[in-house]
Amino acid sequence: MDHKSIRVTRNPVLENLSFDANSGALDYNGIRYMLIRPETVVEIQRVIEEKFGAEAAHEIFYRSGFRGTSLTAKKLLGSGLSPEKCLEAMFKMGSHLGWGNFKLLKTDRKIGVIEVTISASPFAEAYGPSEQPVCAILCGALAGIFSILKGKDYKCTEIGCVALEHGHCHFILKPITNSP
Ligand SMILES: [Zn+2]
Repeated sequence: MDHKSIRVTRNPVLENLSFDANSGALDYNGIRYMLIRPETVVEIQRVIEEKFGAEAAHEIFYRSGFRGTSLTAKKLLGSGLSPEKCLEAMFKMGSHLGWGNFKLLKTDRKIGVIEVTISASPFAEAYGPSEQPVCAILCGALAGIFSILKGKDYKCTEIGCVALEHGHCHFILKPITNSP
C-alpha cells in the first residue's frame, strides 16, 4: 500500500518521546506509551471473538478505544485548548501514533451527525478480509473524542472498512438521546 512507501518527515510524537533505559518506559508529555504490533491487538480481538462472540469483542474494543481518547481529550480541554483545536490536535496525534489518517468528512450541526474517515487503519490491515467492519477500537476512540469535546454522549458506527476492501474506514457518529 501507498503509505508503506511514504517516509515520515516530521512526527512530534516521535520527536518528543523520551525513553527511560532503566525502566524500559516510553513517555510522551508525561504520559506513558508503548509501541505494539497491530497483529498483537488484532489477535486479542480474534481470541475474544472466538471465545465470547463478535458482539463481546466489539464492545471490549470499543470501550478500550473510548477510554484512551476520552482521557486525552479531557487532558487537552483542561489545558485550555478550544474543542476545535483539541479535535485538530487529536486527529493529528492519531496519525502520529500510527493509527491511520483521520479526516473529518462532515458535520451536520442541525441533527448533530458527524462523519469521519480513517485511511490505512492498522487494525483493518492486520485483521485482513472480513464480512464485517473490524475497527471497533477506532469506533470507540472517535466516540470518546466527540463525547468529551461536545459534552454529550456520542455513539459511533463503522459503515465502511478496509477489511471489507473499501478504500478507507468510514464512521458515523450520532448523539445518544434518551428520547424513544
Ligand atoms: Zn475499519
